[in-house]
Amino acid sequence: MPLDLQVDGERWRAHLRKTAESLPSLVPVVKGNGYGLTRERLAAESSGLGVDTLAVGTYAELQSVQGHFSGDVLVLSPWRPGDHGEPGHPIPGPTGHARPEEGAALGRGTRQDARVIHTVSRPEDLRALSAAGSSRRVVVEVLTSMRRHGMELVAALAALRHPGVTVEGVALHLPMTGDVVGEARAAGTALRDAGLPTPLWVSHLAARDCAGLADALGIDVRPRVGTALWLGDRAALRPRALVLDVHAVARGDRYGYRGHRASGAGRILVVAGGTAHGIGLEAPKAGTSLVNRGKALALGALEAAGRVRSPYRWTGRQLWFAEPPHMHVSMLWLPDGAAPPRVGDELDLDVRFTTTTFDRVLGLD
Ligand SMILES: *Cc1c(COP(=O)(O)O)cnc(C)c1O
Repeated sequence: MPLDLQVDGERWRAHLRKTAESLPSLVPVVKGNGYGLTRERLAAESSGLGVDTLAVGTYAELQSVQGHFSGDVLVLSPWRPGDHGEPGHPIPGPTGHARPEEGAALGRGTRQDARVIHTVSRPEDLRALSAAGSSRRVVVEVLTSMRRHGMELVAALAALRHPGVTVEGVALHLPMTGDVVGEARAAGTALRDAGLPTPLWVSHLAARDCAGLADALGIDVRPRVGTALWLGDRAALRPRALVLDVHAVARGDRYGYRGHRASGAGRILVVAGGTAHGIGLEAPKAGTSLVNRGKALALGALEAAGRVRSPYRWTGRQLWFAEPPHMHVSMLWLPDGAAPPRVGDELDLDVRFTTTTFDRVLGLD
């Protein structure tokens, strides 16, 4: 009983290509639920784009991209003691089994280790990682106005000269507002003035700002992009939910887990998509019109039964949940008067892609 993501493959891939062309050193970000498309699929698409590096969110996500992408893989979460890459914590191979003996035989890390680029955000972690003795590849994260992870610039400059690791650049996780270009330029200038013209790995910078920065500072600027790449052309992505059952109910009929009574005649639509897919109750939007609020009030008993707006639409109308979503299906309320869908029809729905797990992604094979 599928909740599907129907992709217009040609259109979606055209957007990927256009984005990659506008960002010469693009590092696609493949993390979390793979922006609704799965990490495995996005890793394979990254290979098709011809990029040399992609980024995953965590060490736990490393394995999922191996086998789909053969270039370098940056881990965005800063390395901490106990993470892979530390002595005694080799990086898992594509089979899921760590292969420390192979690394030992080669006198360096495992073959996977050589492809992994670690993010380091504290001087003590750099020391611990360099103690691994195989010249791990690192980018040094500098604290930005976002204040998530990172070292102060002075500490970062020292870290860049740390022996025992291979420095691949400096990372800046920039917020989405403020003078982020100025912030990136200041960091890049400090690096250049310190005689360390190392690549700058940035997040959330526009293509023209990346190009401007690279030109002005004479360095490689590597934009790490997820949302604007994978979800940048929303019209290419169409979530759809199968209608599994339709039940006519009269006023007063009971339905659902809690035996609610219908406040009027209508239909219960049982549709694909529940909490297991990340379908949740949607809070009424701020600024909901008076008409809608009036409608909500008019629902009376049903409203008291916990009815809230659902993300599903039928013939352009947003539907209400008949009760909170179940694990794999949701029950929706369609009042009499509207032509009902039939079993086997599909409803459009609005979802947040980063929190939705689709049963199938169609249109990309
Ligand atoms: C998630 C992440 C990105 C990508 O973010 P989008 O908004 O999806 O492009 C870039 N940089 C860092 C450090 C991240 O954690």
